Amino acid sequence: MAVNCDILIVGGGVMGTSIAWQLAKRKAGRVVLLEKSFLGAGSSGKSGAIVRQHYSNRLTASMAQKSLRVFEQFDQIVGGLPVFSRTGMVLIVNEKDKPGLDANLAMQQELGIDVRLVSAQVLADIDPNARLKEDEIAIYEAEAGYVESVQVVASYAEAARREGADIRLGVEVENVVTEKSKIVGVETNEGHYNSGTVILATGPWAAKLGKDLGVKLPVQACRTQVALYRRPPDFGRRTAVYCDFVQGLYFKPTHGEMLHAGSLAGEEIKQPVNPDQYNEAADGDWLPGVRQRLSRRYPAMHRSYGRGGYGALYAITPDWHPIIDKLPGLEGAYCAVGFSGHGFKMSPIVGQLMAELIVDGKASALDIAPLRYTRFDENDPVKTPYGYGVMG
Ligand SMILES: Cc1cc2nc3c(=O)[nH]c(=O)nc-3n(C[C@H](O)[C@H](O)[C@H](O)COP(=O)(O)OP(=O)(O)OC[C@H]3O[C@@H](n4cnc5c(N)ncnc54)[C@H](O)[C@@H]3O)c2cc1C
Repeated sequence: MAVNCDILIVGGGVMGTSIAWQLAKRKAGRVVLLEKSFLGAGSSGKSGAIVRQHYSNRLTASMAQKSLRVFEQFDQIVGGLPVFSRTGMVLIVNEKDKPGLDANLAMQQELGIDVRLVSAQVLADIDPNARLKEDEIAIYEAEAGYVESVQVVASYAEAARREGADIRLGVEVENVVTEKSKIVGVETNEGHYNSGTVILATGPWAAKLGKDLGVKLPVQACRTQVALYRRPPDFGRRTAVYCDFVQGLYFKPTHGEMLHAGSLAGEEIKQPVNPDQYNEAADGDWLPGVRQRLSRRYPAMHRSYGRGGYGALYAITPDWHPIIDKLPGLEGAYCAVGFSGHGFKMSPIVGQLMAELIVDGKASALDIAPLRYTRFDENDPVKTPYGYGVMG
């Protein structure tokens, strides 16, 4: 027998669960979320989940700024365990990226973000293991840190359920059903669901359902890699999250004494994959280079213990920014997709914006027009002075 609901969300990653919670909290009707595998099974459960406000655009910086306030008090606002570890973030550039950095710094300070230039001496106080060369420029964003990604998704889902949302796992949406340019429901491996509103929060799988709807969602599933190290015993506890443009790496402390490192170079776009069938292990010939680059910034990491790594998915759009919008020409179709490797930190505000868009007909917390679906056809992509897409 068909299931009836008012709003159906496809995808149980950090976006789908955040949206489900926000809609259920607003008593927007019967909310059902369908996830084909398990919560966080896509990008979200493998995320570095660094929370920084450093962006090149007011909109994305503001999205990160508003979201940080939620992560800081996540257990009280959403429920579950605290998820946020504040470490501060160090961003390092050389001359090439200085103009972009200067512009970003000015914009961020205008927004009230606590970010400042730091000397090698100050950096040594923040993080005694780090080295900075004379021709390198470092800034420090004091409020940054990272969140526990799996716990975040679990807590959003639990909060959504508490507010009455129905979250169903192992249910794959195979097709979205439309009648006269109106959404009427979806077909799944477990039968039909009637719903006048469908939200795609399908991460790297976005293009497929978009195609079924006759809408081109320019989102490519691309493979990225993470290297994991156990820090040496004398490394100490004072550390930070890094976006190191000079070494082309981001890295962050993670569980226990571990360190998580990945590329900042944007090479993922050259690795489009089938999201249902990609190499989930790290490449053996990629790992040594990461250790080498990491050790240039953190000499002590020469003595770190390699613990392998893993492959994961980014959902990349042509301008490395998400599409958060109503889909054109189809009543009741919405999407929040294409977070291009940097969306986790924005999940609190994305949930809120989507709920506003659906319930009130317009997102009001921020003007999200720059993230509209039509921007690519209009040749008006989101621009950034950096050549590192994932930095936004
Ligand atoms: C290694 C790595 C490091 C990252 N680091 C950071 C970081 O430091 N900071 C940051 O902000 N962001 C980071 N990101 C990006 C961030 O994790 C993603 O932007 C975010 O998790 C995207 O969430 P999502 O809900 O859109 O997608 P996903 O988590 O991929 O969720 C989509 C879900 O939809 C489900 N689904 C798809 N199709 C269907 C269907 N037909 N029916 C039912 N279910 C379906 C999938 O199974 C999946 O669970 C990183 C990502 C990775 C991979």
